[in-house]
Amino acid sequence: MDYDLTIHEVHELLKSRKISSIELTQAVLDRIEEVEGKVSSFVTITRDLALDQAHQADERIKAGECLPLTGIPVLIKDNMCTRGTRTTCSSKMLENFVPPYDAKVVEKLNDRGMVMLGKSNMDEFAMGSSNENSAFYPTHNPWDLERVPGGSSGGCAAAVVSGEAVYALGSDTGGSIRQPAGFCSVVGFKPTYGRVSRYGLVAFASSLDQIGPLTRDVTDSALVLNAIAGHDPRDSTSVDQPVPDYTKSLVPDLKGTRVGVPREYFVEGMERGVEQVVRQAIDQLEELGAEVNWEISLPSTPAALACYYIVAPSEAMANLARYDGVKYGFSARDAESMWDAMEKTRQHGFGPEVKRRIMLGTYALSAGYYEAYYLKAQKVRTLITREFAEAFSKCDVLVTPTSPTVPFRIGERVDDPLQMYLADVCTLPINIAGIPGISVPAGFVDGLPVGMQILGKPFAEETLFRAAFAYEQATEWRHRRPVLNGA
Ligand code: GLN
Repeated sequence: MDYDLTIHEVHELLKSRKISSIELTQAVLDRIEEVEGKVSSFVTITRDLALDQAHQADERIKAGECLPLTGIPVLIKDNMCTRGTRTTCSSKMLENFVPPYDAKVVEKLNDRGMVMLGKSNMDEFAMGSSNENSAFYPTHNPWDLERVPGGSSGGCAAAVVSGEAVYALGSDTGGSIRQPAGFCSVVGFKPTYGRVSRYGLVAFASSLDQIGPLTRDVTDSALVLNAIAGHDPRDSTSVDQPVPDYTKSLVPDLKGTRVGVPREYFVEGMERGVEQVVRQAIDQLEELGAEVNWEISLPSTPAALACYYIVAPSEAMANLARYDGVKYGFSARDAESMWDAMEKTRQHGFGPEVKRRIMLGTYALSAGYYEAYYLKAQKVRTLITREFAEAFSKCDVLVTPTSPTVPFRIGERVDDPLQMYLADVCTLPINIAGIPGISVPAGFVDGLPVGMQILGKPFAEETLFRAAFAYEQATEWRHRRPVLNGA
């Protein structure tokens, strides 16, 4: 089916004019119509805009300009600003917020002839690991509709695997691209902090947030990163380093690649099936010529979860202070005074998880507790970063599970925030250290997907692509698709 092809496959078809962007877009829109009622990946479907952009893309292709992403339908996570299309962050607070400008990544895709299908469902303000924190409705995992797709980019991952979008852009603060990619069996890439501009990304935790692609294979991931990476003067944390052509690193050869396996990542509480799948995948890397070192240690890993849940809420609390009912979105008007209005706005506009984070952050930053919590967390952050640097003096890449479990059932963890936070134990240290990470499909346990995470030092995106590509080409996981029809 046309809706199920990769970017590089449809690109060939578009270039040789075997298919038009309008036909492709129509096929994907039909697929959305067919399965969206079961999956709920979207908050907004921009059908007319997509067809309009597809028409423009076809004109461009006719004129001989067919770039790798031209005319290919994409889903954008709903925390990236899109001019004229509402950007809700799956929150009541921004339910009717229509940004007057595009995020830098959206601008870049537009320049390349993007076809935007709509905006994805997500955990409210990207806080969560299951998409159950969406203020609108949860997204369902296409492999088992009773289970979560992961989060917070769960809508993106579910859409890509179920044929509702050829690729998607997600954001990752503590695992929000990689964890849902693992849960849905797609490829999710979190670039080095500063590689991709955050301009126009609604801020959650500014020192951790990064935008990246969710795709059907590693080649597509490299193609999308080629398009979105690069310096942007409007994001002071974006790094001014040339962007290589990432597709050049897609060579299926691991000879001499030093792979480290940090033992702390095979954590207590990890499911046996998941552990087996990931160990098998690592054996496979060895068969492909990698030198595997099973003795790597990152001793501060157990402190990463606590560190993250001080740093991220502290930054979130500051970032969310802008939602005062005056400047953006929802505004409670039945109030007696300014303070009353602000209180009511925030009371009704934010969901329970967002409120929890604001309270955690406020507490961690308050006088008397700042040293004990925030300052200490910053010190742990330095330790974690140093340990990664030390490990990368011995290895080219590190390999871990993406999550300790397979996708859990909808409702199973909603009343237990700590259990929910544990879904990201393997992904959040990577954001703390600012390094790049990719999750690739590594197999299944009882029909449920398992992801393998590959990590590298800052700006080692090429090394990650090479390792991920070699593994992917030696396996068949990327060809599997969930059965959704007629269910
Ligand atoms: N699940 C983590 C959290 O709730 C990470 C989310 C993210 O990466 N945006 O904070």
